[in-house]
Amino acid sequence: MKDNGENHPENLIKLALSHYFNILEGEGLSYFYKSSLIPVKDKKFLYDLWEEHEQVRKDFSLNDEFTNLKIPPWKQVKPSFSYMDLKISIAKKLFDECIFCERRCGINRNDESGFCGVKKSKIASEFLHMGEEAPLIPSHTIFLTGCTFKCVYCQNMDISQHPDQGFLYTEDKLAKFIDDRKLEGSRNVNFVGGDPNPHILYILKTISLIRENIPVIWNSNFYASQEAMYLLDGVVDLYLSDFKYGNDECAMRLSGISNYWNVVTRNHKIAFESGDMIIRHLLLPGHVECCTFPILDWIYENLGKGVVLNIMDQYRPLYRAFNHNDISGFLQRQEYVEAVDYARKLGFVNLI
Ligand code: SF4
Repeated sequence: MKDNGENHPENLIKLALSHYFNILEGEGLSYFYKSSLIPVKDKKFLYDLWEEHEQVRKDFSLNDEFTNLKIPPWKQVKPSFSYMDLKISIAKKLFDECIFCERRCGINRNDESGFCGVKKSKIASEFLHMGEEAPLIPSHTIFLTGCTFKCVYCQNMDISQHPDQGFLYTEDKLAKFIDDRKLEGSRNVNFVGGDPNPHILYILKTISLIRENIPVIWNSNFYASQEAMYLLDGVVDLYLSDFKYGNDECAMRLSGISNYWNVVTRNHKIAFESGDMIIRHLLLPGHVECCTFPILDWIYENLGKGVVLNIMDQYRPLYRAFNHNDISGFLQRQEYVEAVDYARKLGFVNLI
């Protein structure tokens, strides 16, 4: 049979990330841009902001009449109140009684910080990252401080556990950086931390000020509340998830997280339906049977074998890992081989 290259791994991945590649190739509009062109009723005429939001969210894919690829995004006329503006209005309300993640602290973030320790959004660093997955680089990666998890082996603890370290950037200054980085060659803007969930209001405001048509990446532990996931739907083009644990016991013991499995699987389903996705799984020593296999089984059964997967072997016993026997050493080569073999036997074709 003639091989036309369709089954080449690179082409399969391109197919799985087709929305993302369409934007890069100038054939598609970033979701945030499309959202900023969809008119909605002004919030002063709305009794229930969510009702309007959910109506537009349901019909999002049908709203292409507002997008015109022939006109550069910054030249298009925006409505007086857009779907993107509506998202920001709702995020402001959630910020006042914070439920951006499933810890649901319910505190007013204008006055105090919750479990994540984040009050004002601070940036530890931003640069063109060349160490992300091949389709993503160079990736304009923005590291925000603070995290909703307390992983004992955190590989980024200087950022995640010190929310007050870092710099304050106004939203318009950060948006300008994002536009400038695009001109320097970035293929996307990649929000990470710590974790980006505590920063949803700040990030939405920033994104609404970007001029360039650029894919938005959400690089997260996926512990967002359902409400937050619905706000991200129609803004994020590619979800880069960090799927850590295959059960609640490991999640509680190593990251101090309750109800992990239900929340994270729910959010993977929401994300999978609303954008492209790459799922990362960092292999932990001694956790292939209890975590890796159940995660791979779940992805296969719920999202299918075409999902782009990155099974990562770069675990290092950092931070407080030495206090936990199971993860105080390095990953064995055999564990990596077992994990990848298992994924291949299930039929996953898009392994990065
Ligand atoms: S983002 Fe922070 S303050 Fe908000 S609910 Fe989560 S942990 Fe609490």
